[in-house]
Amino acid sequence: MTYSRVGGAGPDEERAWAELVAAARRTVADGLVVGTSGNVSVRVGDTVLVTPSGVPYDRLAPGDVTGVGLDGRQVLGTLVPTSELPLHLAVYRADDTARAVVHTHAVHATAVSLLVPELPPVHYMTAALGGPVRVAPYAAYGTEELALGMLDALAGRTGCLLRNHGTVTYGTSLDQAYDRTAQLEWMCRLWLTASSVPGRTPSLLTSGQLAEAAERLRGYGQPD
Ligand code: 13P
Ligand code: ZN
Repeated sequence: MTYSRVGGAGPDEERAWAELVAAARRTVADGLVVGTSGNVSVRVGDTVLVTPSGVPYDRLAPGDVTGVGLDGRQVLGTLVPTSELPLHLAVYRADDTARAVVHTHAVHATAVSLLVPELPPVHYMTAALGGPVRVAPYAAYGTEELALGMLDALAGRTGCLLRNHGTVTYGTSLDQAYDRTAQLEWMCRLWLTASSVPGRTPSLLTSGQLAEAAERLRGYGQPD
């Protein structure tokens, strides 16, 4: 059976697909996943472009555009969408501003997910994810149960950890979602490094300090 939409992908979808494939390849190059682990999605209108399940990212071509509606029905392409479709769709249904979701198995973040219910606020970039990053309970990959646990962990946040599994972040652009994953992995590495010094306990930021950082981050970088 073929699901290709009459006329196939439009120019916006083709552009978004090229960005999605580049980001998926970067997750491997940056060491955030191994092999075909992890997945990436981008929302274009009411279509969600997703990485296909189990396909090495360096083999993805412009003609492999894979897209589903917000109800999960395939509207573009013939490759089977990522097994984590429930997780990606749950984010888009819960937050209308979400335009991209990145899921990885980044090693330091996954290690933290085995140890604590929440990443301690060791750095001000905690504020860039909306506050201390929670860990969602373990559930088998690709399940609605995992997606539901993730949604709870995401309340008021733009990223969470999945226990014994990995990371999820989202944003209003693919660059933002990707950067949040990179920052989250970096903070997990920071906490693991500091907390592994024998006899010492890392100092943590207060909620007041995080609120101040959040305020300052709103003006970070160049003016629009
Ligand atoms: P897919 O190859 O189906 O996207 O699965 C990878 C993964 O990370 C599942 O959690
Ligand atoms: Zn995964």
